[in-house]
Amino acid sequence: MKFISTRGQVPLASFKQAVSRGLAPDGGLYMPTRIAELPGSFWTGLRGKSLPEIAAVLFNELIGDEFEAGFLEQLAAEAFDFPAPVVPLDDRTGVLELFHGPTLAFKDFGARFMARIMPECKVSANGRPLTVLTATSGDTGAAVAKGFHGVEGVRAFILYPKDKVSPLQERQFATLGDNITAIQVDGTFDDCQRMVKEVFASAELSESYNLTSANSINIARLIPQMVYYVNTWASLTREQPHRKITFVVPSGNFGNITAGVLAAHLGMPNVQFIAATNANDVVPEFLERGVYQPRPSVATISNAMDVGSPSNFERLEHLYGGNHAALRSFLKGDRVSDARTREVIARVFHEQGYLSDPHTATGIEVWNRMCGQSRYANDYGVVLATAHPAKFIEVMEQELPGQTIMPDRLAELRDRDVLSVPIAAVSKALVDLL
Ligand SMILES: *Cc1c(COP(=O)(O)O)cnc(C)c1O
Repeated sequence: MKFISTRGQVPLASFKQAVSRGLAPDGGLYMPTRIAELPGSFWTGLRGKSLPEIAAVLFNELIGDEFEAGFLEQLAAEAFDFPAPVVPLDDRTGVLELFHGPTLAFKDFGARFMARIMPECKVSANGRPLTVLTATSGDTGAAVAKGFHGVEGVRAFILYPKDKVSPLQERQFATLGDNITAIQVDGTFDDCQRMVKEVFASAELSESYNLTSANSINIARLIPQMVYYVNTWASLTREQPHRKITFVVPSGNFGNITAGVLAAHLGMPNVQFIAATNANDVVPEFLERGVYQPRPSVATISNAMDVGSPSNFERLEHLYGGNHAALRSFLKGDRVSDARTREVIARVFHEQGYLSDPHTATGIEVWNRMCGQSRYANDYGVVLATAHPAKFIEVMEQELPGQTIMPDRLAELRDRDVLSVPIAAVSKALVDLL
């Protein structure tokens, strides 16, 4: 399969080229060229398969032409060796837990795939290591640091906004050292993302440092994120073949939901999507009013979604050929305030016995608001639980003191020293560091 830039100003790329560039040279994002519906038999044939098996089928379908036989099967088995269960909340709602990987957030799916595929994609012409640049609002940094730590021939730089990630999140990516460098930027997540994009925009820097990105601008994040949507669809429709599913996705940069929408465009039957955001609601606003107006992000308790200019909006537009009306009729969305998110965390625990982190809680709230609409009358809502509540222990303790159990892999980080390098929010400071 070839990949095309959303801006269409550069030649088609192979998957390996698209991955090693991160951003397309025209500043666009890579997308698959052939997004045609796969036959019904493809989808029904997935029922009964395990998550790594489904991953292997999807990877072979999309990018199998560029890898040796057996490689993608092995990668899928190694990268996805943890479960993604759907936990029922009530008869209309299940929670898809995507936090059973090593860093307890859904970003592990993308990062573990990338850490294994990137060394295959980048052929270093100058003998220098591959340099992975990543902006993080919290969880990407953790997943990328953990995924790439110790991977030979790769160094990873993780940019994060000062004082805007939780102390535990910071310890997940800023205490490893070795080939992982954490960079504390005196600015917001949007500054971090802009700095990364600016450095990429220089072909010269990009070449000489073998730069690539592990952010969701990289198509190598989106492809593995399709896996859990398809796996959920396959398992929920096994007993009820015509079951309709609405996926409700807590969203920031919109990479997660774009992967699901991509699966729908590949023909996954009877699925709808709702985006849940916090106060950073430029996409819900667009869906309601038709005007897309990025703006600076504001800090919330669901900080992994504090994105004011979501990169993947461009991919969603591309999927609809720039037809905003069509996109707005397919995708729905709503925002949830911090105060309401806190109430939902407490209520869901008291009424349903389920502990949801602040991101997941926005999804539960939006589904509860919308599930009564006729559009969703026959749908089962699957809310994506994007992080383990222990990652946001400060908020959890305020709402439900003593209820959140800290997994060992997080608890042991508490006393580690943070090893990050502070810089100003200008791309020159980043270049100097490289
Ligand atoms: C990254 C993240 C999100 C947002 O995902 P996007 O792909 O950026 O929309 C939501 N919740 C958690 C916990 C995250 O880490």
